[in-house]
Amino acid sequence: MSPIELNKRQEDILQIVKENGPITGEQIADRLGLTRATLRPDLAILTMAGFLDARPRVGYFYAGKKTTGALTENMLSLKVKDFMSMPIVVSENMTVYDAICHMFLEDVGTLFVVDKQMRLAGVLSRKDLLRTSIGSQDLNSIPVHIIMTRMPNIAYCTKGDPLIATAKKLIEREVDSLPVIVEQEDGLEIIGRLTKTSITRAFISLAETHEL
Ligand code: ADP
Repeated sequence: MSPIELNKRQEDILQIVKENGPITGEQIADRLGLTRATLRPDLAILTMAGFLDARPRVGYFYAGKKTTGALTENMLSLKVKDFMSMPIVVSENMTVYDAICHMFLEDVGTLFVVDKQMRLAGVLSRKDLLRTSIGSQDLNSIPVHIIMTRMPNIAYCTKGDPLIATAKKLIEREVDSLPVIVEQEDGLEIIGRLTKTSITRAFISLAETHEL
């Protein structure tokens, strides 16, 4: 869904109607120092788009759609870089036992695995570690690269991506976390972590911005 972009004059009209409605087109034009004819297309757009209601012989009312439009616009403007958190990385040869300790110590649900060049090699989730733990293997002798989800099957994002696109990716790929990466010649550098918690934080920030 693409939000309707209002121009400055349309925003001004909305503000006037919000504060003074019901108000006639003539009165709005007076306040803006313009003619009624000049305003006609703007008023038509605002009415058709549902921002304003018009009643014959009474004037224009604010229909309250602005908040929804602004909310949508704000949501689409949120970027990964404003909500990502620190990535926690481990090496491919770390043992599963140590990875479990690491996950607890760092208080995260997903660890990213890097190769010798510190480039993204894999992802380890809670369930990956749990699955291995309920087997009969010795956790101290299994390196994480045996059990991780590896490249090229990893879903990731970049810091400039719209947050809503990453939320979709989290849902579609059924994962809790995406590495935020920068493409380098020798692989993907990990610069952040985008999780379902990041999305929840963004959700709260939207509500606070709009005083819902
Ligand atoms: P959990 O296993 O704790 O439910 P996830 O739902 O994130 O956590 O992980 C489910 C599976 O998907 C795991 O096997 C994990 O390795 C893998 N996985 C996690 N994150 C990603 C990702 N960004 N891209 C690809 N696979 C992932």
